Amino acid sequence: MDIRHLAVPLEGEVANAVVSFAGHDVSLVAIVTDMVRRGRPVVGLGFNSIGRFAQGGILCDRMIPRLRATDSGTLLDASGERMDPAKVLHVIMRGEKPGGHGDRAGAAGAIELAIWDLNAKLADEPAHVTISRAFGRSGGAKSVPVYAAGGYYYPAGSGRTLADEFRAYQDLGFDAFKMKIGGASLAEDVRRIEEALAVAGKGHRLAVDANGRFDLETALAYGRALEPFGLRWYEEIGDPLDFALNREIVASYAGTVATGENLFSASDVKNLLNFAGMKPGRDVFQMDPGLSYGITEYARMLALMEAHGFSRAQAFPHGGHLINLHIAVGLGLGGCEAYPGVFQPFGGYPPGCGVGGGEVRPTDAPGFGLEEKPELASYIASLGLPGRT
Ligand code: MG
Repeated sequence: MDIRHLAVPLEGEVANAVVSFAGHDVSLVAIVTDMVRRGRPVVGLGFNSIGRFAQGGILCDRMIPRLRATDSGTLLDASGERMDPAKVLHVIMRGEKPGGHGDRAGAAGAIELAIWDLNAKLADEPAHVTISRAFGRSGGAKSVPVYAAGGYYYPAGSGRTLADEFRAYQDLGFDAFKMKIGGASLAEDVRRIEEALAVAGKGHRLAVDANGRFDLETALAYGRALEPFGLRWYEEIGDPLDFALNREIVASYAGTVATGENLFSASDVKNLLNFAGMKPGRDVFQMDPGLSYGITEYARMLALMEAHGFSRAQAFPHGGHLINLHIAVGLGLGGCEAYPGVFQPFGGYPPGCGVGGGEVRPTDAPGFGLEEKPELASYIASLGLPGRT
């Protein structure tokens, strides 16, 4: 019946080694239908993950008009009762040239994910059930491993420390953590890692993230310093598309390397698999469906990984939010991250999602359960959806 878009500002003043998220926003998309469940019209909600800005121009000038101009009856799957996400993706990409994925991939992802939310709500089931059925996987786990991401920089005298931050995550039930590196000298980062390990305990409970900042020389120096700690992984070391650099690090660093959160297509992942030296059974892939055309394209990436001898247990999508939790559970991935308290209103999980024993479990709410997240309620309300007051 209608498609609505809202650019939602990210709250807070979080920064990593490269980017301040002040001024960032996220595209929230609503697909409104005249189907009724639980007494009101069914609305599919999706968003384009976190960190690449809202995409109102691409959505409102190109993709939403293409969808509006299409007879929705031609977008149904074989059952005739659900929308086919791949058909929707095909329509919203009409007229777009191959390659150069960029922001377009996030715009398409927001719409495609809203279709999955819609389909799950039509079936009155959590999205992970819909996703696992669509890809021939059922009866899988109902929870996935999770770690708390954050680990920011605290100036001396700020009254707060990295150890304080991780202890607060421990109080919430988390037992694994990820911290930023590359925003200070190597010596200062090593001191911060030691401070974090005093809380995390073992090296395998702590990952570090350079956010694509390092040149080869710096990356190798950090690799030598990190190696004795036996860390969980060393993330996004150099430019996300510098596969030669990644290959050199993988060859020299004895631990696990993680990357992929800034790759937006299956073709980019194919190049990563062919040229970046990633090792089956060891290294970690962090592609994020909301930034890369949605679950349809993400499933193509997983198929490529498996064809190259990698396991989907090596996939940990970037993002730390409800949509990727359902995707990780539904597709049987290695796990997901969480951003407790930051990147609101999208980051982290609502109170009903149990965190404990190193895992997180989605609730039984229909769809991705975004309506259960208190921080999102006012934004969903401002979409002016039918049947809601
Ligand atoms: Mg990262």
